[in-house]
Amino acid sequence: MIGGRRAPVDGAELQDVLDPATGEQIAQVPLSGADAVDAAARAAAPAAEEWADVPVMERARLMFRLQALLERDFEGLSELVVRENGKSLEEARGEVRRGIDVVEFAAGMPTLMLGGALEQVSRGVDTELFRHPLGVVAAITPFNFPVMVPLWTAPIAVASGNAYVLKPSPRTPLSAMRLAELFEEAGAPPGVFSVVHGGEEAVNAICDHELIRAVSFVGSAPVARAVYARSAAAGKRVQALAGAKNHIVVMPDADLDLAVPGMFSSAFANAGQRCLAGAVGVAVGDIGDELSERLAGMAREARIGPGLDPESTITPVTSAQARERIADYIGLGEQEGARILVDGRTQDGDGFFLGPTILDLVRPEMRVAQEEIFGPVLALERLDSLDEALAAIAGNEFGNASAIFTRSGGVARAFRRKVTAGMVGINVPVPASMAFFPFAGWKGSFYGDLHATGMDGVRFFTETKVVTTRW
Ligand code: NAD
Repeated sequence: MIGGRRAPVDGAELQDVLDPATGEQIAQVPLSGADAVDAAARAAAPAAEEWADVPVMERARLMFRLQALLERDFEGLSELVVRENGKSLEEARGEVRRGIDVVEFAAGMPTLMLGGALEQVSRGVDTELFRHPLGVVAAITPFNFPVMVPLWTAPIAVASGNAYVLKPSPRTPLSAMRLAELFEEAGAPPGVFSVVHGGEEAVNAICDHELIRAVSFVGSAPVARAVYARSAAAGKRVQALAGAKNHIVVMPDADLDLAVPGMFSSAFANAGQRCLAGAVGVAVGDIGDELSERLAGMAREARIGPGLDPESTITPVTSAQARERIADYIGLGEQEGARILVDGRTQDGDGFFLGPTILDLVRPEMRVAQEEIFGPVLALERLDSLDEALAAIAGNEFGNASAIFTRSGGVARAFRRKVTAGMVGINVPVPASMAFFPFAGWKGSFYGDLHATGMDGVRFFTETKVVTTRW
């Protein structure tokens, strides 16, 4: 347990943290269990009580100081993300920037937490609504955005008066440690932001712990479902952001100069390890040949290399196991009848590299079209109409994001209205919600009611009290 500072490892098993670009060990992380979660929750509980009493303007000022520290350390933090995650420096800078956005949003907490009042709801009776922090809350986060995903929730939870316990991915624990140090330097009292490292045992302990009031989870679908069910069974408030299989529809009238680089970067940036990656391209009508040829041309010219090399366009995946799993999916696509237009299974060496892969002639019912591969693999479907494209999207388990490229306002509007995804791009290939909107996945991409960020985030980490007064 680290209450804003480093603490000794209490005999827990250690896991290696590897640089995905070299396969070298860069650190070790303890896989703590229920005891560490219990210690963190017990330290957080009194801290939460005191912190809730600190005036909201003072809690907001913590966010201003944190923002300044994140700006000060912007490059160092981005480089740390590259080292433990493997993504490009440009991608890492993007994620740190998106994290800072949430800190800036949370600095408006006095306004965000405003309640309401209504006079004379009955004769001589007035009603007021207050927002209260919950107490101790926890977040369980994935490897693919080690700074941004914790910052989706930590600033909102802390500025609204909670004590926050973070359980990061054991593959990317260093950014979480750095965030803990920055919260401490910004003036967060001990116990208000703490980190517990670990895997399944620590997660189960968080779901079960009596002192933890809310759990925010981001990760793969099976774990999201398990965390959602287990936390809810323990009476907690829970939001679980899960996997994705995002479609990008390209209409015959699309501007391919816009669509092709957009689709390429959506599918292959961070080696496809993004929950908003456009993993399925849907060519409508007769645009399929030109689209696939142009995408294949970009894929063949891609530079595969480490994230710290500014020339790299395709960076490594997170682990040797992930590389194997992704390669198996490429083989499966071929067995299912897809045509391998560009095969990324040619990379070797010590880092966990895979080249970009494009599977053409994919049908919506194939497993490579249905399941999240989470790697640099783009599946291309060729369908006859917008309705068929919408049906393919509706037939997928997930509903995080979808995008369309078209020059027609009417087609774009029809897509916007009918598409079964929570984040929609119109000529925008990665329609990520900004900090002041909810990160709004649908269907199997989200379990819960209130999403992360925006007013949903504020509502998730607070509860309302309605007071009725007669004088
Ligand atoms: P993951 O599910 O393996 O891990 C997520 C967290 O759960 C980690 O902290 C991990 O230690 C823990 N965990 C792993 N296995 C567990 C188990 N059996 N029981 C309890 N806890 C367990 O996910 P990942 O590989 O780190 O991240 C990639 C996944 O996250 C992808 O599916 C991606 O789509 C998803 N993701 C979703 C969003 C979103 O907004 N919907 C955002 C980012 C990532």
